[in-house]
Amino acid sequence: MKIIECMHTQSRCYGKKRQAIKPVGIVVHSTGANNSSIKRYSQPSDNDPRRSELLSLIGVNKYGNHWNRSATSKAVHYFVGKLADGTVGVVQNLPEDIAAWGSGKGKNGSYNYEPTGHIQFEICEDNLKNKEYFDAVYRAAVELCADICRRYGWKSSVIVSHREAHAKGYASNHSDIDHWLLKFGLTMNDFRSEVDKLLTPKKEETPKEEKLYRVQVGAYSKRENAEEMKAKLISDGYPAIIKED
Ligand SMILES: [Zn+2]
Repeated sequence: MKIIECMHTQSRCYGKKRQAIKPVGIVVHSTGANNSSIKRYSQPSDNDPRRSELLSLIGVNKYGNHWNRSATSKAVHYFVGKLADGTVGVVQNLPEDIAAWGSGKGKNGSYNYEPTGHIQFEICEDNLKNKEYFDAVYRAAVELCADICRRYGWKSSVIVSHREAHAKGYASNHSDIDHWLLKFGLTMNDFRSEVDKLLTPKKEETPKEEKLYRVQVGAYSKRENAEEMKAKLISDGYPAIIKED
């Protein structure tokens, strides 16, 4: 899958407050606001050498309210949503070994930081009614998770939604992304089983060996009798041979 790298180096999460993690899982979020464009949240840094290229790919946020600012206290590793051309894509904002500011904390700790640091991404919500958009971001999110799991050798069981992370005691009390999945009759278990499908190598079909069943028509003590039967079979259209014991 193609991931557009647009590092949020102007975020405090990436800068002074940066904390290293060795990720142990994935948290899936959705933004909780009706805006399906990644440009709402992600913009290149002022000194990004690919700035103009990234702006044309992601689109320009005219309002200056994106997350690549020191004033924001939110940061995730990836965004899934609409690019400038209207297609669904994935944009990376943080290296995976830097703690995200995505989960907050729960009674047992935080999935942002060591020793429970998770790779986290946001899916841009729309009005939660558009099946076509939902299917596209769901697919991209499944592929992103499969890609991460493959690289780290993880099973899909390490993937949780923000809501599940809260239930486990490692995140603030949010309902994403389960509330969105539910609108289309799905759960996080469905999501994980879709990831499993990509992680399980397809069984290659082994070609069946062709078997031949030979028919023996007789055994003769005299060669000429065998020759006579052979000639009769050949004249009847059978490819007969004589085998001597
Ligand atoms: Zn969340």
